[in-house]
Amino acid sequence: MFDAISPTNLFTFPFGKILSAAFQSALFLLYFCSMRYVLLILLFGLTCSVHFAPSKTRIKVVIDPGHGGNDPGHLSHSSKFLPEKDINLKIAKLVGGYINKYLSNVDIYYTRTDDTYPSLDQRVDLANNNNVDYFISIHCNGNAKKSVHGTESHIHNFDARQSYKFALELEKQFSQRAGRYSRGVKNNDDRAHSIQVLKFTRMTSVLVECGFMTNHSEAAYLNSSYGQEILASAIFRAFRTRAQADFPTVSLLETGSSGAYTIQILSSKGPIDTQDASFRKLESPVKRIKLNTSNSYKYKYVVGSYSTKKEAEGELAKVRKNGFPDAIVVEN
Ligand SMILES: [Zn+2]
Repeated sequence: MFDAISPTNLFTFPFGKILSAAFQSALFLLYFCSMRYVLLILLFGLTCSVHFAPSKTRIKVVIDPGHGGNDPGHLSHSSKFLPEKDINLKIAKLVGGYINKYLSNVDIYYTRTDDTYPSLDQRVDLANNNNVDYFISIHCNGNAKKSVHGTESHIHNFDARQSYKFALELEKQFSQRAGRYSRGVKNNDDRAHSIQVLKFTRMTSVLVECGFMTNHSEAAYLNSSYGQEILASAIFRAFRTRAQADFPTVSLLETGSSGAYTIQILSSKGPIDTQDASFRKLESPVKRIKLNTSNSYKYKYVVGSYSTKKEAEGELAKVRKNGFPDAIVVEN
């Protein structure tokens, strides 16, 4: 069910080639008119190599559950608990499941979908060879000191601006939405060593440490399906936020509703564009719903989707502050 999806070949317009051929024919004639144009010909020839990038319609992400097979990763104090490799895989599949379910136009590649060990080179190659846009490696941490706990988001270095923004969003989601203790964004200097999958992947790349297997309460949380779902939804939300910011032309509208509750921000007589400037301050995309009613207000507009009323109410204050003081929580 979670097998890697085959990539869709991007449609390529041969504008560059057509223009280049036209220029070259014209220049060939010019050349015969006068040798004085030799320099011009060379200069024009250079301009012919301008590239025309095809407009992007989909984005691609690699989800990499760390370790696997003979490499269990970190172990916890209790044999009742799963090794890191298994928790990584469970969280990874949940993240991919949320992306598949709630976002359109995203292709997902998994480095593994079972208990096998792809080499680090293979993980890097899968991302680079498919020209993916994001690489997300999922891990859990360990420390000799049992009191150490919290989440971390790793990047190669701070020059990787997009990766840094993604890592910041991940830690924000871990702390503010998932309620975890955030240990922050870590780079090469913090670790004093490179992480191969971050160093050699040529796209926005992050490695998340979802918590410490060696901390008793965090190990229990990481082993619970509740904890895994909360962490996966935090990773999903961070991915959605960054993807929408990085690729505004790609339609990443939510394709479904993830919960029983949503926040209604307004209703209207005629349809209002969901990209309207008045919605700009809202964190989640606005969904317009046509009502089957004889009332003159034919449309309602909602944001967010929450599994519990409490979760929706937690977001309500922010929505009200962002320009919709009359927003209310409603059942889907
Ligand atoms: Zn690990």
